[in-house]
Amino acid sequence: LLSLKGVRKSFGAHLVLADVSLEVQEGACVVLIGASGSGKSTLLRCINLLEVVDDGVVELDGQDITDPRVDGDEVRSRMGMVFQSYNLFPHLSVLQNITLAPVRVHGVPRAQALERAHDVLQRVGLADKANARPDDLSGGQQQRVAIARAMVNAPRLLLLDEVTSALDPELVGEVLDLLQGLREEGMTMVLNTHEMGFARSVADEVCFLSDGVILERGPAEEVLGAPQQERTQRFLSRLL
Ligand code: ATP
Ligand code: MG
Repeated sequence: LLSLKGVRKSFGAHLVLADVSLEVQEGACVVLIGASGSGKSTLLRCINLLEVVDDGVVELDGQDITDPRVDGDEVRSRMGMVFQSYNLFPHLSVLQNITLAPVRVHGVPRAQALERAHDVLQRVGLADKANARPDDLSGGQQQRVAIARAMVNAPRLLLLDEVTSALDPELVGEVLDLLQGLREEGMTMVLNTHEMGFARSVADEVCFLSDGVILERGPAEEVLGAPQQERTQRFLSRLL
């Protein structure tokens, strides 16, 4: 479904991603781990075309989306992205937050967008909050709205950047449960997290990002349970 080959990205003289290759099969959940600043968010942003890669190729459904001729908005309509800080528009209702991009950016007729918005709100368990403002919701509810918004175009995959790290501990569970449910329904996901327990429970593959490359990858129980690389071992031991 998604394939990265030799992706490179620098900010000025700072090489963040040196050479990243990654294959994500349909229905798989790939979890990126690594130290702060190792480039996890940058990698998700490169997949989503929020950053332009310096070198390498990103393919979605066999199409090279790094080709400058591709329409970034169209590509982004096939991926949902969720951020740590929800990024909801505070002056819009939950329903308006969800329908804004489909209607304004992707040209979906309003009635159809509303219908889909109600469907995804139902899916995240917030059907009764359609007319609420983000400020009236808990952090966990706001993040579930952000996930609903990411799903409204029925994306091919979800990109999730530290979606639980801004939440109070007692609110983390509801978001993790939702993602676990989506994963069981076969949603393809690439996510990064500092929560190794969550990584272990959802990941088909865990990738440890270090020095601009994926230094170690494999099933969660191997990478998290019995890491082979010294750097991975050091990273994980610091988290305990
Ligand atoms: P964290 O776990 O703290 O979220 P991360 O692994 O997601 O870290 P990134 O946010 O991808 O790391 O950042 C990787 C490096 O790239 C950092 O050194 C950061 O300062 C730098 N960086 C990211 N975005 C930009 C930008 N737009 N301009 C300049 N430097 C940037
Ligand atoms: Mg980050």
